[in-house]
Amino acid sequence: MSLAHGRPFLAIPGPSVFPESVLQAMNRPEVNIYEGELVDMAFSMREDLCKVARTDGNVAYYIANGHGAWEAAIANTLSAGDHALVLATGRFGKGWALMAEALGVKVEMMDFGNATPNDLAQVEARLRADTDHRIKAVLSVHTDTSTSLRNDIPGLRAALDAAKHPALLQVDCIASLACEPFEMDAWGVDVMVTGCQKGLMTPPGLAFVYFNARADQVRNAMPRVSSYWDWRTRTRPELFYQLFCGTAPTHHLYGLRAALDLIMAEGIEAVWQRHTRMASAVWCAVETWGEGNALALNVTNPKHRSTAVTTIRTEGDIASRLRKWCETEASLTLGIGLGIDDARAQNAGELFRIGHMGYLNPPMLMGTLGTIETGLKALGIPHGKGGLERAAEALVA
Ligand SMILES: *Cc1c(COP(=O)(O)O)cnc(C)c1O
Repeated sequence: MSLAHGRPFLAIPGPSVFPESVLQAMNRPEVNIYEGELVDMAFSMREDLCKVARTDGNVAYYIANGHGAWEAAIANTLSAGDHALVLATGRFGKGWALMAEALGVKVEMMDFGNATPNDLAQVEARLRADTDHRIKAVLSVHTDTSTSLRNDIPGLRAALDAAKHPALLQVDCIASLACEPFEMDAWGVDVMVTGCQKGLMTPPGLAFVYFNARADQVRNAMPRVSSYWDWRTRTRPELFYQLFCGTAPTHHLYGLRAALDLIMAEGIEAVWQRHTRMASAVWCAVETWGEGNALALNVTNPKHRSTAVTTIRTEGDIASRLRKWCETEASLTLGIGLGIDDARAQNAGELFRIGHMGYLNPPMLMGTLGTIETGLKALGIPHGKGGLERAAEALVA
């Protein structure tokens, strides 16, 4: 007998759960793309998008996923032959580096492994050694969704400043924006990239590149920028169509507007606090299950853990068996383990991930944790008792 009836639930680290109000806002007939509500909404949305990222700077819109935002940031700031320092703490830093290399950028990667964040002393030393300032940009992921490591971005800015290095600081907040604290201006981030399908709770298809005046100067000094990716026309459009370099993603904009309404009503700091509370419940459950058993949080130091996604290490094929049981017997989809230990694309057997980002409340989270615990019992996988009780305590702590 299968228990997999009722509403299926996706607990992967993006796309996250789409709020009803977002889906309902998108369920409408075609709209006028030349004037009226859509045009006003697309322009006025900038203000809330900037509030979410805590910046008074600019934000360029793209019809794209996160990879598109990566490419856009590079296209506006780095030419073929320019040098960039890319910091990797998992698969996503490496992915951004590959995109830069494909555009001819000379990438130097500092790989800090899969369980500890960027080593800022090493980064500072590397920047100090670059006395003729060949490195034009430092690229770092805020939260790496494969390892669930969160990097210290103010600390990274401090490392650049201590080395008196002028490279642009570019940060990937695709998994962290509107989940984890992020202060673009106060932290001195020059360029930030994100997508709409994680903390912004909107079906995949919109990407954003935020940039400050310093980054814009670099853009203006570029010998050429592809007209499609150029952030200049997108942020200073004379005609509405230039905002997206073509037809606007009409329905996505309605969806995103509804998502921003939810974030604004809750307040961005309350959003961050809710994520912290939910994440601590996940950690408590996993730590309890893992006492004396083969289940453990990938990131041991709580200060280095993301509050939007959690990567869990197991042994053998425990992770894939557990995911399969949850999916087929209980309608719960968990995140696969992305390849972080070696060249494989996936570590499906020994890793799994829980997405706890965006539109999430205790029934959704406790349902997820309770279903995982049920799966552990169903499969006879040894685990510590009382994980759910610890999670409940964390939620009210
Ligand atoms: C999801 C994600 C990406 C990739 O986004 P796509 O929309 O799949 O292209 C990049 N970086 C991070 C940190 C992510 O979480």
